Amino acid sequence: MSKVRKERVPVRKRPPAERIKDFDPVVIGYSEEDAVSEARRCLECKEPFCTKECPIHIRIKEMIKAIAEEDFEKAFYIVKEDNPIPGITGRVCPQELLCEHVCALGKACEPVSIGKLEMFIADWARSKGVEVKLNIKDRPERIAIIGSGPAGITCAYELRKTGYQVTIFEALHKAGGVLQYGIPSFRLPKDVVDYEISSLQKIGVKIVLNTVIGQNISFRELQDSYDAIFIATGAGAPRFVGIEGEELNGVYSANEFLIRTVLMKAYRFPEYDTPVTRGSRVAVIGAGNVAMDAARCALRMGARDVYIIYRRTMEHSPARVEEVEHAREEGVKFMELAIPKRIMGKDGWVAGIELLKARLGPPDSSGRPQPIPTEESEVSEVDTVVEAIGTVPNRLFLDRIPEIEKDRWGAIKTDEKLMTNVKGIFAGGDAIRGNATVIQAVEDGKNAAKAIHSYLLQATR
Ligand SMILES: Cc1cc2nc3c(=O)[nH]c(=O)nc-3n(C[C@H](O)[C@H](O)[C@H](O)COP(=O)(O)OP(=O)(O)OC[C@H]3O[C@@H](n4cnc5c(N)ncnc54)[C@H](O)[C@@H]3O)c2cc1C
Repeated sequence: MSKVRKERVPVRKRPPAERIKDFDPVVIGYSEEDAVSEARRCLECKEPFCTKECPIHIRIKEMIKAIAEEDFEKAFYIVKEDNPIPGITGRVCPQELLCEHVCALGKACEPVSIGKLEMFIADWARSKGVEVKLNIKDRPERIAIIGSGPAGITCAYELRKTGYQVTIFEALHKAGGVLQYGIPSFRLPKDVVDYEISSLQKIGVKIVLNTVIGQNISFRELQDSYDAIFIATGAGAPRFVGIEGEELNGVYSANEFLIRTVLMKAYRFPEYDTPVTRGSRVAVIGAGNVAMDAARCALRMGARDVYIIYRRTMEHSPARVEEVEHAREEGVKFMELAIPKRIMGKDGWVAGIELLKARLGPPDSSGRPQPIPTEESEVSEVDTVVEAIGTVPNRLFLDRIPEIEKDRWGAIKTDEKLMTNVKGIFAGGDAIRGNATVIQAVEDGKNAAKAIHSYLLQATR
């Protein structure tokens, strides 16, 4: 233990003053030399809690050992066995709450930087063109997957590996779900997303874009043409606080703001002429990952002042610690214990926001202290408001599948094997969980693939 370096090998990042001028990646990642040094900090625990804590149980200890031994190819094969999208999860997974949280080294010093090592190994393989060679034995059964986010991608990969004929239907013009349209490229570069999705196509998964199931193709048609269906449609419909002034110009849901900025590339005006307000003083309501992304996009779009408005204090924020740090470094300001009361307007445009001061009360159902409004309020002058308080599954699609049971929030109900009340129809990811994480979507994709395989084996017996 005494020989182990206490601090992590620092990862290369671009300085804040430089990075807020563009949408290029903030984190550059480890060099080979740095990755090997960091991997050599691993204590190689007899019982690796990191693997236990990982929702998809990646063999992290073995991956790190292979990096420490400079066998990068082996490390890549190990991670790919459990995870089809390591370049993505290495960048966006909340490792500080999962694998790194239980790292034995973390008891005495900084835990091993597992996420950055995963990112390193995926980037290394991509740069060298190293790919997993699969020996797929084709099966005749056809499976339709609705939605190409991490749940859909993972389920497709796993089912195709088992030999099934898999088609993903995606409403948008690009595959990837939130990975493509939500998380900005400075955090998750789109060439990484495109590359990891292309590995599906290379093994024969078909991806049909620009196709809304329930509109371009009916759900019934899919049921008639496929042996099983996996619904991975996410939770893309925004929620609003429900206060006065939300109809004003300059008020956005975070999803709309991010889709315009990230997917439709408003930041590359005039090359792309997607309209979006380039506010000077921007209030972002909420303090999760989505809020951090919206705030940091607004800064990069030229805002002078960007405020995160949060009704609790930041220690209770659900955002990844790294993203909060990055936002702070870049100049995002945090208004804690502030509850939006109304948005004020002038000539139809946002002119300010009134905030009630809050105090923290006893824990609510989330286990976090409940924000209690006081009588005191203050007004901040802002010209843009972005609401990032969560999303729900889209009713437009759900209304077209009335036979499938949902809960009162619109999340699809499944049994423990992720099958809905209709035989052969499975669901996972945000469509069943509401707002969750990429790694939980991957977990559902894997579990649904296993369940679909057993279902089809039984059905063909
Ligand atoms: C801005 C933002 C930042 C985030 N940051 C993080 C983070 O840092 N770390 C983390 O772990 N998680 C993060 N999350 C959450 C994470 O991205 C989601 O939990 C995850 O993407 C859910 O995956 P999914 O496959 O269930 O759905 P999605 O990724 O939402 O994909 C669903 C797909 O289904 C398509 N679809 C919907 N209806 C239809 C239809 N009828 N026909 C065809 N296609 C359809 C949609 O177009 C979409 O492409 C973030 C979310 C957002 C919005």
